[in-house]
Amino acid sequence: MHDQYGIAGTTAPEFRFDRWLDNVEGNLRIADMAEPVIYLYTFQSWCPGCHSHGFPTLNAVRTALEADGFAERVKFIAVQTVFEGHDTNTSEAARESLGRHGLGDIALGHDAGHPPTIMSDYRTGGTPWTVLIGPRPDRTVLFDGFQLDAAAAVELIETVLSDHQTSSPAATPADERNHLMNNEAMNQNAMTTNDLRGRLTKEQFEVTQNGGTERPFSGAYCDTKTEGVYRCIVCDEELFDSAAKFDSGTGWPSFTGESEQGRVRRIVDRGHGMTRTEARCNNCDSHLGHVFADGPGIGGERYCMNSASLRLEPSESAS
Ligand SMILES: [Zn+2]
Repeated sequence: MHDQYGIAGTTAPEFRFDRWLDNVEGNLRIADMAEPVIYLYTFQSWCPGCHSHGFPTLNAVRTALEADGFAERVKFIAVQTVFEGHDTNTSEAARESLGRHGLGDIALGHDAGHPPTIMSDYRTGGTPWTVLIGPRPDRTVLFDGFQLDAAAAVELIETVLSDHQTSSPAATPADERNHLMNNEAMNQNAMTTNDLRGRLTKEQFEVTQNGGTERPFSGAYCDTKTEGVYRCIVCDEELFDSAAKFDSGTGWPSFTGESEQGRVRRIVDRGHGMTRTEARCNNCDSHLGHVFADGPGIGGERYCMNSASLRLEPSESAS
């Protein structure tokens, strides 16, 4: 659905940034790594989805691989790819984030270029983002995306490692390509395009699946004051509470914050000659709108959403 992201199926580009922290001596380079599989996790310290999804997934994958005796053959690397909030997403904050999740021992990099080199080279779309890289000599990128499912990742890594061990001298590129992970298949909540086309209106489909934007003042919830919760039109996850809705005058339903941290995933959007923060449902990856830094609330943010991405569930008292 989001074909502009990721480079799965191609050779992993060498790292080009030179800020490695703590336990890394000199610069970490893919060419020097002995481990057959590389698990590259990119994050930003202030990114809620990184803490609710990315770090826990890394932890779960590593724990499972340790239990199965595979962990030593996987190189785990965490890199903070700073594309926003440079004052907050510092190398110190990155270190603290890793420690908080019990991952202080893994290699940590800080890539704060404009844009971060990893983001351009691996075509990542924001954070959290995970890249899985296969064995030498090809170092094929096996997975490059947002929605990494821990169980599927463990299965893939263990299959690649088992093949790598038994095949002699090394798995052929064709073998490796068979292990390529499909982002959709990794997404537990993935629904087929056909299902969605049948269930959503044309506009809801265009907005949520193709990143479209409804015309201002045209959406169902632009002026709505009804109390209740706004859910994702695709997966029904609760995203916003009406208490956070305010009249922004923009023509799109606007909120000062999500109903709970981590419900909305933020990714960098370089489309239309601007750099903006895109908002997507953290549960199903549907496009919702954008987040801007000019909101009236205490957090100072404005969640500018499309009505077409949302479904209002009025509270008992309101109906
Ligand atoms: Zn959703």
